[in-house]
Amino acid sequence: MDECGPIYVIEWKESPGDQWTISDKSGFTTHLFKLNEDANKDIVYCKHCRKQFIGKNRDLIGFHMNKIHPQITTGMTYNQYLQIFKPTYVPNAHGDEKNRENSFSIGLRPYVLCPERLPEVLYFDDIATIIHDKFPKSEEHFLVLPRSHKISNSHPTTIDNGIKVQLQWHIDWAKRFCWTQFIKKYDIKDISLKEKEAFLANFVQSGVHSTPSMANTHIHVMTRDFHSKKLKHKKHFNSFNSPFFIPWDELPVLDLPGDKELSERYIKNFEMICPYCSTNFKNRFAKLKEHLADEFNMRFVSKKGLITADRAISSFNRFTNDS
Ligand SMILES: [Zn+2]
Ligand SMILES: [Zn+2]
Ligand SMILES: [Zn+2]
Repeated sequence: MDECGPIYVIEWKESPGDQWTISDKSGFTTHLFKLNEDANKDIVYCKHCRKQFIGKNRDLIGFHMNKIHPQITTGMTYNQYLQIFKPTYVPNAHGDEKNRENSFSIGLRPYVLCPERLPEVLYFDDIATIIHDKFPKSEEHFLVLPRSHKISNSHPTTIDNGIKVQLQWHIDWAKRFCWTQFIKKYDIKDISLKEKEAFLANFVQSGVHSTPSMANTHIHVMTRDFHSKKLKHKKHFNSFNSPFFIPWDELPVLDLPGDKELSERYIKNFEMICPYCSTNFKNRFAKLKEHLADEFNMRFVSKKGLITADRAISSFNRFTNDS
């Protein structure tokens, strides 16, 4: 496609239900364009990623906008639209992401592209967004999402020292957040984890999966208790407790085996080892789960439990006083 060739907007009246149709004052739709060479054909392109649409299929184009360019919303003014799409199109920058509208793997995209709109976001700036992992595998489990298009769309194991320097502040933020959130919920009985510095050094891990399931680069920052209802099978446990998980400090890792071999070696065939005492549970997931609960209860006491107990006592007192 000739990037320098003249493009022009196509006239397409807005209808109230369109979430993606942004018009200038004259009512022209601006997010799609038509090439001169296609002037007589019913072919339009997405201005941002150059996806081609044959026919003006509103549903298809609308779906594309919602999933791939969630920055565009109803009520956005023409100027806001121009501001957001000011970074001009870089040939092939989008790779094949533009065709993944239906994929579960693009679920982190809105957090990278428009965190300001999402109330569940814990922190964001121009460099990164920090959110809760939707399926926490430990008491505290957060994701740091770099916002640069290039980093977000590169393989996470290629994160190099330059990128690490940029993101270190955010990783540290998430680690400290692990601590502040954890001590809101639990009293720490284990002396070796009572001090913040020791807790962060020995009980919080950060890193990436060697084969991530989500398309946008995300760094996991989490406590190492694996005390979570969402931890449901061996794959969940091993993806954070085997060399499948690459610690932040060890990045970049450049010569990894293929995805299939990684999953055979470190997910399927890797024995499950307790992160506290190193007992090898081999393949016995149910036993490991029980043991993790014991290990947790030995070290931490729920503050919620204490509050409930206090309440129970005071209501008992009230009852005895009243009678
Ligand atoms: Zn597009
Ligand atoms: Zn992940
Ligand atoms: Zn143990």
